[in-house]
Amino acid sequence: RNDRGGEQMPEWKRITQGKDQSLGKRTNMSIKDQRESLPVYKFRKQFLEAVGENQLMIVVGDTGSGKTTQLTQYLAEGGFANDGMVGCTQPRRVAAMSVSQRVAEEVGCKLGEEVGYTIRFEDMTSPNTKIKYMTDGIMQREILLDPELSKYSVIMLDEAHERTIATDVLFGLLKKTLKRRPDLKLIVTSATLDAEKFSTYFNECPILSIPGRTYPVEIMYSREPESDYLDAALVTVMQIHLTEPIGDILLFLTGKEEIDTSCEILYERMKALGPSVPELLILPIYGALPSEVASRIFEPAPPGSRKVVIATNIAETSITIDGIYYVVDPGFVKQTAFDAKLGMDRLQVTPISQAQAKQRAGRAGRTGPGKCFRLYTEAAFQSEMLPTTIPEIQRQNLSNTILMLKAMGINDLLHFDFMDPPPTNTMLTALEELYALSALDDEGLLTRLGRQMADFPMEPGLAKTLITSVNLGCSDELLSIVAMISAVQTVFHRPKDKQQQADQKKAKFHDPHGDHLTLLNVYNAWKQSKFSTPWCFENFIQPRSMKRAADVRTQLVQIMDRHKHRVTSCGRNTDLVRRALCAGFFRNSARKDPAEGYKTLVEGTPVYMHPSSALFGKPAEHVVYHSLVETTKEYMHNVTAIEPKWLVEAAPTFFRVAGTEGLSRRKKAERIQPLHNRFAGEDDWRLSAQKRQGR
Ligand code: ADP
Ligand code: MG
Repeated sequence: RNDRGGEQMPEWKRITQGKDQSLGKRTNMSIKDQRESLPVYKFRKQFLEAVGENQLMIVVGDTGSGKTTQLTQYLAEGGFANDGMVGCTQPRRVAAMSVSQRVAEEVGCKLGEEVGYTIRFEDMTSPNTKIKYMTDGIMQREILLDPELSKYSVIMLDEAHERTIATDVLFGLLKKTLKRRPDLKLIVTSATLDAEKFSTYFNECPILSIPGRTYPVEIMYSREPESDYLDAALVTVMQIHLTEPIGDILLFLTGKEEIDTSCEILYERMKALGPSVPELLILPIYGALPSEVASRIFEPAPPGSRKVVIATNIAETSITIDGIYYVVDPGFVKQTAFDAKLGMDRLQVTPISQAQAKQRAGRAGRTGPGKCFRLYTEAAFQSEMLPTTIPEIQRQNLSNTILMLKAMGINDLLHFDFMDPPPTNTMLTALEELYALSALDDEGLLTRLGRQMADFPMEPGLAKTLITSVNLGCSDELLSIVAMISAVQTVFHRPKDKQQQADQKKAKFHDPHGDHLTLLNVYNAWKQSKFSTPWCFENFIQPRSMKRAADVRTQLVQIMDRHKHRVTSCGRNTDLVRRALCAGFFRNSARKDPAEGYKTLVEGTPVYMHPSSALFGKPAEHVVYHSLVETTKEYMHNVTAIEPKWLVEAAPTFFRVAGTEGLSRRKKAERIQPLHNRFAGEDDWRLSAQKRQGR
């Protein structure tokens, strides 16, 4: 069965009714028994006492020991949710949703009542909510609105070992909040042993360690480096299924596309083997998957069959699936990293660290002795992998984070209490970017526009576009476009066997000016169909993505209302839409290269039109794009044709008109310099200036 469909199954019922057949041990276990069998249970009393006595503490324990699902419940049971909520942060959206679902089930309430979750654009809580799971990004936003966090009595910063930017920033912010609120408790939980470092940072606070309950895992390395890790992975999965004893398989891949493709290939290969081999349930899990599909991975495989869960590194620590005996680890992960050459963040597939490899292997030893197949050589493990992963804050673009900190009134970023401070250069780049967007003034202080931008939970470029559209009188249009871009990866459905048909349907929506207006055409046509689902199927549009986009749009309208931004339509004058896009994305501008493809205006890097773009093969001299995606080449995604003079209008500190050319390099020197002086001192500024010339 190819389990990529959308139908909903009541897997919760099956687990709680004790019909779990996958493992003899768990059969007929009541929720109470299950809870009490987790390693963390023995420490319940000790934990609650420690929380009573300390404002701050650290809890360390292996993944799967019950930290995320149990500690919040202990706190609520122990009376800590009586005058405020227990809030628990998660680095990933899917984890926040799936864990809160589980906890609601254990508590015996409807999700969104006593137990709920909040992620960006989705709030599943009510006034009754006592235990609230949320992404670390949401917690940051809540601090922006209420620095005292007065609704909470305990905050649990969970999965702290993941070291996302938001969690790292929360470390510093919450330390401040604790000083102002002696009654607030903070618990930091981590799955790894850097607890000492955490404790030192958090004023030498106590550490509670929960010993794991793990079985040995046999590690198998490839003898030779694999030239095609995807194929090697699928062959390995088939081999395990056909030759190894019972037990489920977990395969780590890097992203949605890879996972979807693998599911299809595996399904075909299994089908080709005919009915004589045992059934293999193929279950994908990645961040963009809707929750009801995602929760099916927890459902045990029917007797006689086996399941393979194909996951991104979300299954490394945030989500624990019981019954996994085999792990297949190709050794890669997709991460965003700041690309100095392009001057922006880029998604890249990179080798994992040794710590991640160990963590992945450990997932096979939770229910019994397991096996881990590493699709790389032992030499590669030893010599090519870093010992630990570099924290996000040291490798990603910080403009979003810095805008938020500025909006909180934190101006002295160099002295902010970071556990591991970001490189000065990264901060300078972000400051420069915010300055170019006019979110900061010459002195590096937040402008009125910058403050408005911080109200929108999205990258600064999109926020600026939206606010500019209010002044230009095309915010109705931009709301639809921004909602579609920030809600989902794509709304277009392109099944392998019907690609041509799908492309023809899509071409009907193509706007001669590019992809943003094409998205608008799709949204408007769907709206005209009265938001019809059959219309979506007919036009190869994903109805679920459209519904989500509409949902996001509604919420953006609420933010607009709250801040008195007018929603007006420009009608047919869609040039205004393109001008608004220039205001946020002038950095992402490119010009047609006489030889081939495009060159970015800022750095002169070669980039290409993606074949799926409405502008592919069309004459468009100047364009702006939303993002770059590297596959075989550096492709621009969501591209719109523009007039070069709009760039100058949009960013006069960045571009100027020069001679007959109409457009020129950016102007560096005087205007930007004061900004850097203020933060970095003369030396740092010179350093970064030289670096930039060197590029
Ligand atoms: P930790 O946070 O220490 O890694 P968790 O609290 O996430 O541990 O997991 C404890 C147990 O709860 C695990 O056995 C896990 O499989 C189970 N669990 C978590 N979420 C779900 C779910 N959605 N469905 C079924 N079981 C779940
Ligand atoms: Mg956890």
